[in-house]
Amino acid sequence: MNRKPIHIAVTGAAGQIGYSLLFRIASGAMFGPEQPVILHLIEIAPALKALNGIVMELEDCVFPLLDGVVPTADLNEGFKDVNWALLVGGVPRKAGMERKELLGINGRIFIGQGQAIQKNAASDVRILVVGNPCNTNCCIAMNNAPGVPRSRWYAMTKIDENRAKIQLAKKAGVNVAAVTNLAVWGNHSSTMYPDYFNAKIGGRPVTDVIANREWLEKDFVATVQERGTAIIEARGLSSAASAASAVVDTVRALTTPTRKGDWSSVAVCSDGSYGIEKGLVFSYPVRSDGRNHEVVQGLSLNDFSRAKIAATENELKEEKSLVAELLPK
Ligand code: NDP
Repeated sequence: MNRKPIHIAVTGAAGQIGYSLLFRIASGAMFGPEQPVILHLIEIAPALKALNGIVMELEDCVFPLLDGVVPTADLNEGFKDVNWALLVGGVPRKAGMERKELLGINGRIFIGQGQAIQKNAASDVRILVVGNPCNTNCCIAMNNAPGVPRSRWYAMTKIDENRAKIQLAKKAGVNVAAVTNLAVWGNHSSTMYPDYFNAKIGGRPVTDVIANREWLEKDFVATVQERGTAIIEARGLSSAASAASAVVDTVRALTTPTRKGDWSSVAVCSDGSYGIEKGLVFSYPVRSDGRNHEVVQGLSLNDFSRAKIAATENELKEEKSLVAELLPK
C-alpha cells in the first residue's frame, strides 16, 4: 500500500453526520480498501473539545488506511491541499425560524468556506455540500470561489435517490439493487422530484412493474419527500447515519465509472440542460467516467414530470434571489 493519500476535509466534523461519516471514510468505504486517506476535521471553536474526543476514537479504531488527522477551527489550515471538501456543517433550522433566516445564516458560512477552498485546496479539489439548504449553499460557495471550475461543485441528493429506490423495491418485492435509473430532479427539499417514469426495476419501466399509478403519483412521491421528517418524528433526531451513507455513495458514484445504461443523482451547476436556468445548483441524473461527470441528456419528461421539475426550479430561483447579496456580481 504505497499510494499517495487523498486529503479529505469534513466541516461540522463533530456533528451527528460527522460521527457516522468519518469512520466510514477511514475504513476505506469511500475510496476503496487500497487508498490511504488523511482527514482534515473542521469545526467551530466551541466544538473543538468534542472533536478531540472523535480524534481519540479514530485513533482507537486503528484504521490502517488512516494516514493522518488534522483537527482545526482554522479554514485555511483545514482546506490546505485537500482533494475533496465535504461541507457538512451548518446551523440547524430551529423551531419558528424562517427559511429566509436560515438561508442568510448558513449562506454567510459558505462565503468564507468557498474563499478558503479557492485559496488553499489542491488544484484537483472537488466539493460536495451537505449542510442545508445544500443546493443554495453550494451556489454561494461556488460563486465565492471563481478560480475553482464549476464542474467540481456538487450538492447531495443521493439520499433522496436512495429513499426512492427502497420504496420502489419494497413495493415491487425485489432487492433494492434491481432498482436503477432513478433520477432526482431539483432541490434537496420537499419539492425535489423522484422521477419514477424513467426509473427501472429489473430493467423494466417502474410503471410496468408497479401498475398502480395512484400509489406512484401520491404515496410514493410523498413518502420520499417526507422521509426526513418521519425519521425525526420516530427517532427524535435527524437521519444522520443514512445521510452519512449517502455522502459515501455520492463520492463513490463520482469517482468510479457509472454502470452502463444507469445513472446517479447529484446536484450540479446547471448548464441549461432540460431548460433549467443556468447557474442554479440543480439535481440531475449524471454519469461519471470516474473523473468527470456529464448530465444524462435526452430523457423524456411528460407533463406530470415537467410540472414537478418547474416547481422545484422555481423554489431554487427564489432561494437564489433571497441570497443575491451573498453572490459576488
Ligand atoms: P448534522 O450533522 O445532523 O447535520 C449537518 C447538516 O446536514 C445540516 O445542515 C443538516 O440540515 C444536514 N442534514 C442532516 N440530516 C440530513 C439528511 N438526512 N440529508 C441531508 N442533509 C442532512 O448537524 P449537527 O447539528 O449534529 O452538526 C453540525 C455541526 O456543524 C456541529 O458540530 C457544529 O459545530 C458545526 N457547525 C459549523 C459551522 C461552521 O462551519 N461555521 C456553523 C454551525 C455549526 P438540517 O438542519 O436540515 O437537518
